[in-house]
Amino acid sequence: MKYNSFMLHNFKNIPQLQSVSSQIIEAIEIVGSVLPFKTNNYVVDKLIDWNRVPNDPMFKLTFPQKEMLLEDDYAKMKFVIDSGADKQQIKEAANEIRLKLNPHPAGQLEHNVPMIDGEKIFGMQHKYRETVLFFPSQGQTCHAYCTFCFRWPQFVGMEDLKFASKEAELLVKYVQDNPEVTDVLFTGGDPLIMKTKHLETYIRPLLDANIPNLRHIRIGSKALAYWPYRFITDDDADDLLALFEDVKRAGKHLAFMAHFNHPVELRGDAVAEAIKRILKTGAAIRTQSPVLKHINDSSEIWAEMLKKQVSLGCIPYYMFVARNTGAQHYFSIPLIEAWKIFRETYQSVSGICRTLRGPSMSCLPGKVQILGVAYVKNERVMTFRMIQGRSPDWAARPFFAKYDEEAIWYTDLEPAFDEEKFFFSDKLNEILSPNVIESDFE
Ligand SMILES: *Cc1c(COP(=O)(O)O)cnc(C)c1O
Ligand code: SF4
Repeated sequence: MKYNSFMLHNFKNIPQLQSVSSQIIEAIEIVGSVLPFKTNNYVVDKLIDWNRVPNDPMFKLTFPQKEMLLEDDYAKMKFVIDSGADKQQIKEAANEIRLKLNPHPAGQLEHNVPMIDGEKIFGMQHKYRETVLFFPSQGQTCHAYCTFCFRWPQFVGMEDLKFASKEAELLVKYVQDNPEVTDVLFTGGDPLIMKTKHLETYIRPLLDANIPNLRHIRIGSKALAYWPYRFITDDDADDLLALFEDVKRAGKHLAFMAHFNHPVELRGDAVAEAIKRILKTGAAIRTQSPVLKHINDSSEIWAEMLKKQVSLGCIPYYMFVARNTGAQHYFSIPLIEAWKIFRETYQSVSGICRTLRGPSMSCLPGKVQILGVAYVKNERVMTFRMIQGRSPDWAARPFFAKYDEEAIWYTDLEPAFDEEKFFFSDKLNEILSPNVIESDFE
């Protein structure tokens, strides 16, 4: 299949849109000028069920929806566009709204930036001891933009690719100098938007350097869901698979971190074929998704997704909580609700599917998992544990918060039992710079 992308300037060419209402088109135009919007012919032709639009989950996942902006912001943007404003004026109005949507707040990128010889290396992040994130400069877009994407500021040009690093050399040096690092996670955008020959310039040096502490190379990608042809018929599909094989040959484990948000993304022949080809290289595929209102906020959907993933040979990995950025008000559900979905999902699948962990918030102190609700000495509390901690010894420690049915993010939580702070609070303040900022990038 030939790749065709649709964005704000050409989405009206999508034939299926002829049958949707003018209000829906208007919403795409208005919200799409604030939040990123891009989709492709595979998503449009194979994943979206147009008979169910506007309620189809894949439509809501990839096309901007009116409710993703607050009413006032929507009205304001509509006014600007209807008044025939030029590009610059539209951009200014959009930026004003974007700033209210908690794009990565100033300075927060600083916390996880690693250093070599006293120099900060942007393009990498190192938050958890074992794993370095690497953002290849050429992989800063995606096959299609999910409407919940927390990387949206970089897609609308608000981040000047701060993460991007051309410097594969620096990456090698960093991993060599830090023997506690066992994993390099390639992320983006989507690193598999890159041609294989570009991806190779990052991965080969890591293999050639023969670094004993490096054990796992991970690639986070949505390509299996949005463009499985990347692994089947694209010009350089075979080269990509050959590269995966070489990772294995070099004695490293290749972990393909696949983002699937809905079982529909796992149904076609193309995705099954793509998974088969990736697994044949010796790579493992682990899957992850946030739990999202309007898209996948039911245990039936999750159970179907997990079963399908396992039957295709993938290993369920993370259920995330929707992040506190962008259209969070549209997608988020209370933590208690997310736990209920997790619990009911867990109870309806066999142990083979229960490798799923979560629901987990990727937030300032770490990856915080909600374990559930418990009664301790007659007090109803929420229990949590850290799957990852900014300080490694926080991992696997339980802690308690006051019961709060409305809490949607860790910043909403208060310690239970009239404690003043959580066990990690002091150390967290110590680790961070004086201006602690709430939001965090992964
Ligand atoms: C999730 C995450 C990782 C990987 O954590 P695992 O639990 O090992 O999968 C690494 N770095 C950051 C910043 C993350 O958010
Ligand atoms: S696949 Fe990931 S990076 Fe790409 S748009 Fe979706 S959430 Fe963002």
